[in-house]
Amino acid sequence: MGRRSARDTEKEIYPGGEAPSCGKGPKLARKGKFMIPIEQLTKEQAAGIRYILTDIDDTITTEGKLPACAYTAMWRLHDAGYKVIPVTGRSCGWCDLIAREWPAAAVVGENGAVVYYMENGHLKVFTHPSVAGDEVHKKLEDVKEACLKGVPGTRVAKDQFSRVYDLAIDFAEEPPYLGLDAAEKIKDICVSMGAQAKVSSIHVNAWFGDYNKLSMTKLFMETVWGETEIRDKILWFGDSPNDEPMFAYFPNSCGVANIKPFVDRIQHLPTFVAPYEGGEGFAAAIDHLLKLQPHVK
Ligand SMILES: [Mg+2]
Repeated sequence: MGRRSARDTEKEIYPGGEAPSCGKGPKLARKGKFMIPIEQLTKEQAAGIRYILTDIDDTITTEGKLPACAYTAMWRLHDAGYKVIPVTGRSCGWCDLIAREWPAAAVVGENGAVVYYMENGHLKVFTHPSVAGDEVHKKLEDVKEACLKGVPGTRVAKDQFSRVYDLAIDFAEEPPYLGLDAAEKIKDICVSMGAQAKVSSIHVNAWFGDYNKLSMTKLFMETVWGETEIRDKILWFGDSPNDEPMFAYFPNSCGVANIKPFVDRIQHLPTFVAPYEGGEGFAAAIDHLLKLQPHVK
């Protein structure tokens, strides 16, 4: 979630006023009637899981940083034979780095416009067939101007330089933190101009093309890896409204604890919830999974 929102909820989630270090600290009270503590994931439910798909910002990061426990959790999954696939609104430039350097089998970027993955030592890019052509840049420029004019304080995200298919408007990655109402206004402007738009914990992303995180993940896994029945093989992690298509589709989905401020804005909540916010929550959930099913090779 955005930096301000994280602090706003910290006192409520952590009565002591301090977020836990990896794997320690008070447990989150039940926040949503549809979310079950991840510790209740059973051995039987875990048995079919082969892929760990996860959002990045505020799901495996905490206060903007990737904590050691979350990165270690990804390596533990990798070494145990799981395929880890970050699925993010972050840019193609970030995807290049992640595919090359993280223990990730692939990375879905720009909210589903692309998938970057390594094959025989080469970086491969799978692009969604519905991404717009070069004319998209003029259209996104118009959307950008309307957002900056329509919602005071908004600015273009600093990673925009390495985006190819979408526009990211920052409302909570850096101060001033504008809040979710401003984010919804930005989204409405984007949609009114014919763009698709989603609110993440830090940005509003806008694009022209018929794709999202879920549809691109399914298309990539079927086309490139020949995986047609993925529904029960995936455990999905997320934290905000742009993760909702994944929460709705995958029976095994888990929110990290900072999903709480978004609960009223998400129609399809995840099945499970992690005990802690961000990367600490992700690491705790993976620890539980690996106790149930240490290897899948
Ligand atoms: Mg997020």
